Amino acid sequence: QSKEAAHNGYRVYNEVMSESFRAYLTLGGGLRTAIEECQFELYYQPKIRLSDEFTVGAEALLRWRHPELGMISPDRFIPIAEESGLILPLGEWVIREACRQLKAWQMQGLEQVSVSVNLSSRQFMHPDLVEMVRSALDETGVDPKYLELELTESMLMADANETVEKLHAFRKMGLNLSIDDFGTGYSSLAYLKKFPIQTLKIDRSFVQDLGVDAIVKATIAMANSLNLKVIAEGVENRQQIDALVGYECQEVQGFLFAKPMASDEFSAYMQQSNAPHQPALQVIM
Ligand code: C2E
Ligand code: MG
Ligand code: MG
Ligand code: MG
Repeated sequence: QSKEAAHNGYRVYNEVMSESFRAYLTLGGGLRTAIEECQFELYYQPKIRLSDEFTVGAEALLRWRHPELGMISPDRFIPIAEESGLILPLGEWVIREACRQLKAWQMQGLEQVSVSVNLSSRQFMHPDLVEMVRSALDETGVDPKYLELELTESMLMADANETVEKLHAFRKMGLNLSIDDFGTGYSSLAYLKKFPIQTLKIDRSFVQDLGVDAIVKATIAMANSLNLKVIAEGVENRQQIDALVGYECQEVQGFLFAKPMASDEFSAYMQQSNAPHQPALQVIM
């Protein structure tokens, strides 16, 4: 084989190398260091109750503050963390940090705030998950009823018996459980009924073309009849709010109200948005 051919072979390989593999090479190596050096941060996106537009909680969303590349979105590094197994220590950090923050907010007087945390499938399958969450709650002194775990449909499709047991263990501890991105998987409400779940989060893709979407309306109606609370994700305009109120959706998350924000910004946001409304006219003479 000539030198040139070898060179061409390398080039072809380089060109067909998938985008995700390239990302793996760039980010994968840095992930372990990032965990050791704690380059992560949790952001919090407010959850708004539609009946009074009060902020009732937040979803914790992971951010990686990379020393050279800046802020990296979880969609880019979670799959890599999942593949390498680093999701286990990282996911544990997320749960402990969310509990620590929840306790800090409650000490500040934000007593009713609840926080939800996303789980990845590898993390969910791990046999020590329940004990890890229990110890995080014990060590921080957080009342479990304020912590919620966000699962996806695919996690519940795998091994149904073991899954049901795990979910019941969490319920027995007092946690709340929700299904994230509902509608993007292959499950149905009829299937989900056999799991002890309290909340359904309707995926942003369905919420976006609301007004024409009978699916969202039917899903909310069915969820309500099963006593599930419904959260619509990705709400960006008032027309969507009007439709969702009509469909009897309970809560929303979306850029219309707030983007995910740092923890101190969130507590300021919550205090301000839940403050008693001032009289419209207050004339001071
Ligand atoms: P998700 O759990 O469905 O989170 C909602 C995503 O939608 C967030 O993206 C949020 O910023 C975005 N979003 C919220 N409102 C709007 C809106 O009105 N418009 C638009 N265009 N987007 C909106 P983010 O923070 O980039 O997170 C992406 C995904 O990464 C999450 O989707 C979740 O699946 C995953 N993720 C985030 N944090 C964690 C974590 O700690 N652990 C695990 N396993 N996964 C995480
Ligand atoms: Mg989520
Ligand atoms: Mg979601
Ligand atoms: Mg999502």
